[in-house]
Amino acid sequence: MTRGVAILGSTGSIGTSALRVLDRQRARFHVAALTSRANATLLAEQSLRYQPSFVGCVERDGSACLIDAATRPDVDIVLNAVVGAAGLDATLAALHAGKRVALANKETLVMAGDLVSKAAAAGHGEIVPVDSEHSAILQCIGSRAPNEVRRLVITASGGPFRGWSKERLAQATVEDALQHPTWKMGRKITVDSATLANKALEVIEAHFLFGVPYDQIEVVVHPQSIVHSFVEFRDGSVLAQLGLPSMELPILYALTHPERVVDDGVPRFNPVAASPLTFERVRTDDFPALALGIEAGRRGGAAPAVFNAANEQAVALFLEGRMSFAGIPTAISSALDALGAHPGTDREALLAADAAARGHVLSAAIGAAV
Ligand code: MG
Repeated sequence: MTRGVAILGSTGSIGTSALRVLDRQRARFHVAALTSRANATLLAEQSLRYQPSFVGCVERDGSACLIDAATRPDVDIVLNAVVGAAGLDATLAALHAGKRVALANKETLVMAGDLVSKAAAAGHGEIVPVDSEHSAILQCIGSRAPNEVRRLVITASGGPFRGWSKERLAQATVEDALQHPTWKMGRKITVDSATLANKALEVIEAHFLFGVPYDQIEVVVHPQSIVHSFVEFRDGSVLAQLGLPSMELPILYALTHPERVVDDGVPRFNPVAASPLTFERVRTDDFPALALGIEAGRRGGAAPAVFNAANEQAVALFLEGRMSFAGIPTAISSALDALGAHPGTDREALLAADAAARGHVLSAAIGAAV
């Protein structure tokens, strides 16, 4: 019998990549549920083709359809590819129902890492990361005990602005920010890659997924996006996972972990063609969102939720042309100063912190515009 997969966010970049992977893995998996936020036309095409037992459109059916899709008895694996904090309740519900959550919605783990970990323990669900860096770390760690890990080194492409001066960065447009050099992704994560807020989200995500303290997680710039991350063990040995920058392999691995299966669609790696592989220090002063996010992670409580929500709101304003590129980290910093001390980590406190942070960024932007 094949395993049922629910894809939350099936019309986005991760969702459509996942369907390509599932096309090649019909002997193992079938599409059991599909949801999309607003792309009803593509969703209808997908439903005709894959004949899932459940189809939900958030715009039409409301956000409860995400939970309905995630908890169905014919669903074994929930690929959560919703963008942003909107994916939280579906992740919690799926874990409580004992499902595997293949997590592409990193914001879920950032805003509510403790809550999500508890839901997994309570419902015997499991989280397997889809993020390429975390998939790499998972593959390198294998079955080693946490105390054998000395350090995680997460790679960052550096985004489209890696070589830009601080002065030029201040003038960056939406079009500039959406030109990612190595990865083809959705708009929100592409802007997050340009500010390095994405890498801050990934540091927090790694902290919760692997139980590694923040001072043992580092970020290095690797412009070719071939080495997806490193794990250093206590004896000094360092393992890395390599591959071409395509999300299809991490999606496949999240479905089959810990097994490895044949997939002819994943391009073969050629070290000569991939060379040279280079690494650089992060320009932390010019990309302040990274340090702001890691600091929010260290503070704990609702601070990561405030960081995430302030970033989501600021990115939305930037994409609408209502905030400058440099305004994004400024807005995050201001929200964290005002709201980052809230200690609560239950669902209501986190959702309240999330709403307050969005409101803070919005009202500051409106204030600046008048
Ligand atoms: Mg990533």
